Amino acid sequence: MERVDGKTLFKRALRRRCPVCGRGAMFHSHFKINKACSVCKVTFWRDPGEVLGAMYFDWAAAMVTFLALWAALAWLTNLSELTQFFILSAAAAAAVLVCYPWSRSLWTVLVYLSGGIERPPLRVLPGGGGHKESVAAPVLPASGGRKTTPLRRIHRR
Ligand SMILES: [Zn+2]
Repeated sequence: MERVDGKTLFKRALRRRCPVCGRGAMFHSHFKINKACSVCKVTFWRDPGEVLGAMYFDWAAAMVTFLALWAALAWLTNLSELTQFFILSAAAAAAVLVCYPWSRSLWTVLVYLSGGIERPPLRVLPGGGGHKESVAAPVLPASGGRKTTPLRRIHRR
């Protein structure tokens, strides 16, 4: 798999595209993430718990908005603290909603960088599943070295 550099990944995240191919849309709508890329078929979040990770970005968006606006309100206005609090809370909530898709696409980039996104498996199962056979063929541990597909010994009775 070719590595994609950080700048490209960041751009793809901003454009809400698949981090792997950069073409498939990650979002169905503002709040609805696609399960998989429509172009390269990777699954974005295999683990539903990834939503907790994306919340770090929600939190960051809320904090940055809160702090920046707080500084602005404190310097530029004479609003009461209670009024400021309401404005700041509303702005932080709005920031989370607005940034929602980007929180998720940025998190998906991190998932991708950590190896959590894989291309759809094109595995060739050697000899098919072992469930049909009752013959317990000794399975050799796949100690590296052999690149060729090991020939499975077939026991016929
Ligand atoms: Zn893709």
